[in-house]
Amino acid sequence: MNILKFGGTSVGSADSIKALLGIVEQARQKEDVIVVLSAMSGVTNLLLEMAEKAQVAEDYASQLKAIEEKHFEVIRALLPASAQNPVFTKLKIYFNELEDILQSVFNLRELSAQTKDLILSYGERCSVFMVAHIARQKFGNAVAVDGSELIKTDSNFGQAKVNTALTELLINDYYQSNSDQLLFVTGFISSNEEGRVTTLGRGGSDFTAAIWGSALNVREIQIWTDVNGMLTADPRIVEKAFSLSELSYTEAMELSYFGAKVIYPPTMIPAFLKKIPIVIKNTFDVGFPGTYIRHNVQTCELPIKGISSIDEISVLNLSGSGMVGKAGFSGRLFSLLSREQINVVLITQSSSEHSITFAVKPADAIRALNLISKEFELELQAKKLEYPEVENGLSVLAIVGENMKHTPGMSARLFNALGRNGVNVRAIAQGSSEYNISVILSKADLSKAVNAVHDSFYSDLKKTLNIFCLGTGNIGKTLFIQLQNQMPFLAKNNDLQVKVMGISNSRQMYLSEEGVNLCNWEQTLEEQSEPADLKIFVQKMKGMNLPNCVFVDNTASANPVNFYQEILESSISVVTCNKIGNSADYEQYAAFKKAARKYGVDFYYETNVGAGLPIIRTLKDLMMSGDKVACIEAILSGTISYIFNNFKGDVPFHKVVKEAQDLGYTEPDPRDDLNGKDFMRKMLILARDAGYAMEEKEVVIESMLPTACLAAASVEDFYKELENNTAYFEQLKNEAQSTGRVLRYIGKLEDGKVNITLQMVDDTHPFFMLSGSDNIISFTTDRYKSRPLVVKGPGAGAEVTAAGVFADIINVGKK
Ligand code: ADP
Ligand code: ASP
Ligand code: MG
Repeated sequence: MNILKFGGTSVGSADSIKALLGIVEQARQKEDVIVVLSAMSGVTNLLLEMAEKAQVAEDYASQLKAIEEKHFEVIRALLPASAQNPVFTKLKIYFNELEDILQSVFNLRELSAQTKDLILSYGERCSVFMVAHIARQKFGNAVAVDGSELIKTDSNFGQAKVNTALTELLINDYYQSNSDQLLFVTGFISSNEEGRVTTLGRGGSDFTAAIWGSALNVREIQIWTDVNGMLTADPRIVEKAFSLSELSYTEAMELSYFGAKVIYPPTMIPAFLKKIPIVIKNTFDVGFPGTYIRHNVQTCELPIKGISSIDEISVLNLSGSGMVGKAGFSGRLFSLLSREQINVVLITQSSSEHSITFAVKPADAIRALNLISKEFELELQAKKLEYPEVENGLSVLAIVGENMKHTPGMSARLFNALGRNGVNVRAIAQGSSEYNISVILSKADLSKAVNAVHDSFYSDLKKTLNIFCLGTGNIGKTLFIQLQNQMPFLAKNNDLQVKVMGISNSRQMYLSEEGVNLCNWEQTLEEQSEPADLKIFVQKMKGMNLPNCVFVDNTASANPVNFYQEILESSISVVTCNKIGNSADYEQYAAFKKAARKYGVDFYYETNVGAGLPIIRTLKDLMMSGDKVACIEAILSGTISYIFNNFKGDVPFHKVVKEAQDLGYTEPDPRDDLNGKDFMRKMLILARDAGYAMEEKEVVIESMLPTACLAAASVEDFYKELENNTAYFEQLKNEAQSTGRVLRYIGKLEDGKVNITLQMVDDTHPFFMLSGSDNIISFTTDRYKSRPLVVKGPGAGAEVTAAGVFADIINVGKK
């Protein structure tokens, strides 16, 4: 025999009830079943709302109407007209009774726990009566059973404790005399010795199923709901949560205790005692095997089974000298709370015994505070105890799994994920079983935290990087194309998903919780955007509070740089091809690095030097592995390389420059390249990365241009001046050619000094053979002494720069 329990959503509509009956029919073909039902989805909440409204003399007619309509709609849809009347009549009787009770509450302005339970019981009674009647069309022997009379409890209304021995007797008795019927039993409700209705706690229909299952020693207890079993996290919070095939009773208990609503924690106890497996299945995906909770689960590879969370919790902190070394202090505190039925979710105590922090449901917080004030009145007066305060707006996150016990590093992984994402941990507790570690954090951080922790423990799953991109010029545009093309590959081979959550250029910006579709980002930015405002962009990005966030600066503007510090301090990584940030004051450069380190995020700027070439990374690896840089020599201006490589034959110098500009090798204003400023910035950044606290003014630049060219007021004038100085450039060219040399504009870092000079090098120099717009850099170090380490290749262009930015993005969080 099996118990089949269907939750609220499984009896929530005509369609789901049809599905439910199909499942029952299938199951009955194999063995006997007993069906346990919840109230229709939302009905228990509506009943509660009505009760609370009546208590303060507010109108509750609309809720009552909604409940009636919900049921009547199903009856009309699933019963032939001739069979509808008896069900309508019975339900109307129920609703009249309910109205009478509510009217009394209204009149007396009084709602006792006992009356509340009575009101709530109508949810299950109505749904069971209705569904049993509908089922009778299919199975002639279906009957509705008011299970409240068969489960006997104490008088702790709202959360009654079951008298197991008596209950098992009653259930067995009932079943013996009705074994030829197909029973549809109310979940959740029970009764005390006097026969007054009690309830088993919210979500308690699962528990009803386990109580019946245990009493009748069934083969299996099936919990049918609206998800594919127990998942690694609440699927409403974590999109990537996946179904677990098996759990131990303890694991299921811990997960549900810390908020996994899919099963009510006490459900596990009767099943555990009799070793009856519980299986959680999906009414809307019948073929899915679901999750088994059972004895002797097979060992599994997952480091943890799941992450659960309670989104609203209050924390009380008790501290003071009066507690130190006082045996029995915490005993007194917690027996007080337990006596008064206040459920303590989590406790931590400082090792100095100077303080105890514990978490309770928000509804219990003030009562707990008042009880403590009374119980410890003397200690408080004598100032041996600080007056406790309640902290609200907090949540609990717990990781659960039996494997944690044998695997070191689990808590490190948890705290690393939280730290990297700027989640502040308010308190920590580890279950003595070592099956769970739970942390208290701000409610605003919960969703980010659960997602980040999920990503970090289930690294086999696709990790998501949420990126916010500034700049839609050549590089920005190209990056989007590359991202879009590469997405399937990253998902397949690197388990990585890059989601663009926001885009801004200098005119418009667009941010979306769903992410920006890269197929038509231009249109989206055109049609759905708001006016660009960097401050608001950053604010919104922070407000989304997403895990694994990256801010990508693809501009050449000084403005975004002003926000880097704030962004890094919000635990958001920064990837930038914009050189302005790192080449301004040294102090600022150092501050960015420090912030990234302090907040555990990445600050990557590989494309600041040599576009996509691995220059910054190479230097960093050399330094980190303990090598010492003696000298760096480099040609880091692709523009100037191109110009010198093409400055031959009869073509005058200014024409070569123009050609370079037309081919897109120069900055919009070619003077920025030729005056050496861009090169200077790159050398400055390299020098700083090599460990020198250098400022711009310390870089010695020998201009390759005559003064008149440097002084030109506009681009047009500049070209004119270049033309006027044709003879100067010709002379340089001829001198080089006649001595078998070539012109090279070379930057050099040696002994903490940087200079950039125009040189003529012969074929013994490694920079002699340089073609097109290539960059080249040679590192002479302790390890690369006689033959330097050389990196060479195209050092400019949107394609390679965007690729460098791309590489930086996917490297975020790798370490
Ligand atoms: P029912 O009405 O069937 O009893 P509940 O609403 O009580 O269903 O519980 C099912 C819901 O629990 C799911 O829809 C899901 O949103 C939520 N849930 C929270 N945590 C988890 C988890 N770890 N695994 C599965 N579901 C979860
Ligand atoms: N209907 C009850 C509730 O909503 C019991 C249950 O659904 O399990 O809490
Ligand atoms: Mg439930």
